[in-house]
Amino acid sequence: MTPYSRQLIDDADIEAVVKALKSDILTGGKTVESFESAIARYVGAQHAVVMNSGTAVLHAAYHALGIGEGDEIITTPITFAATANAALYVGAKPVFIDVRYDGNMDERLIEAAITPRTKAIVPVDYAGNPCAMEAINAIAKKHGLKVIEDGAHAFGSRVGSKPVGSLADVTTFSFHPVKPFTTLEGGALVTDDPEVAEKARRFRSHGMVRKQLWNMDMVDLGYNYRLSDVQCALGLSQLEKLAGFIEKRNAIAALYDEEIPKIPGLYAIKIPEANRSSRHLYPVLLDRTLWCSKEDIFKACQEEGLGVQVHYKPVYQHSYYKEHVPTQPLETAEDFYRAELSIPCHQMMGMEEAEAVLKKLRVILKRFARGCGV
Ligand SMILES: *Cc1c(COP(=O)(O)O)cnc(C)c1O
Repeated sequence: MTPYSRQLIDDADIEAVVKALKSDILTGGKTVESFESAIARYVGAQHAVVMNSGTAVLHAAYHALGIGEGDEIITTPITFAATANAALYVGAKPVFIDVRYDGNMDERLIEAAITPRTKAIVPVDYAGNPCAMEAINAIAKKHGLKVIEDGAHAFGSRVGSKPVGSLADVTTFSFHPVKPFTTLEGGALVTDDPEVAEKARRFRSHGMVRKQLWNMDMVDLGYNYRLSDVQCALGLSQLEKLAGFIEKRNAIAALYDEEIPKIPGLYAIKIPEANRSSRHLYPVLLDRTLWCSKEDIFKACQEEGLGVQVHYKPVYQHSYYKEHVPTQPLETAEDFYRAELSIPCHQMMGMEEAEAVLKKLRVILKRFARGCGV
């Protein structure tokens, strides 16, 4: 099975981890700081705070921006549930707005969703394709809101020459194995605001600050969201290879961009010329005549060894959300969910394997070509 995404761990990574395992300090040491500096440099931010998951980082981001009980944040339903869940952790309510045909939040719908309780806008760079951050920041500024960019898919993506990580008040990343690079589990928050970074850092470690000698003072309610030095050593080693990973995924994506539109029933999503996507995912969209066959197409792909996946069921369709955050279905998000399939695109694939994916897709789509009516 060719998975839709996966990690690439090489001998240098293994050596880095073994070396870290043999050192005296396994967590809370200097490698954490080195990894944070490397991340901040890479994405053009002043501060980076690493944690043990992208979800922990989102939780810390909401907390550090002072979002809490009774507040609202505006986000997209086409995301992993964690984006909205972390708002619930702090007692805030996620308000979902519709997406565009590329799966990103439709920035034209933000203003209508703003209420006196709105505190932040939380766009997600879907599949690695950066959102319209300039427009989103302008709206945030006009209304005195903060922007948390969920860049879990987008480490290494750029808008023009500006890296994701330098475009919002706070940007969050995930280092889960399917994401652009990995620390097994892990994530980072980046910001230019020293106070936000400091709050996030405290939040990561029980809300405690060191006074002197043994005297730690807990000034805030925090968690244990620390990332170990061993994982940071892996992250540093992975980060050296990230540019190569992204290049590889973009080479595969370029082939797909060329060939997918030629397959009857399939559409590709165009990334604007000026932008660079990490290509965390390669989403294709099924023509609406095929939506009723999606389950069968999905199964056929899996039978042919294509580890396709669907990103995402709109968050408000989850049972928990139906009960606690009832939301009217959003038209484009619903369509997107019916149309989307993520096909294999990752740094372990060669171009021959990408060609093989296309070949299988052509055969499978032909079988369903007659569609089943709209
Ligand atoms: C993966 C992901 C997260 C959560 O990251 P974890 O490291 O798995 O906790 C959050 N948001 C999005 C959009 C993601 O894809």
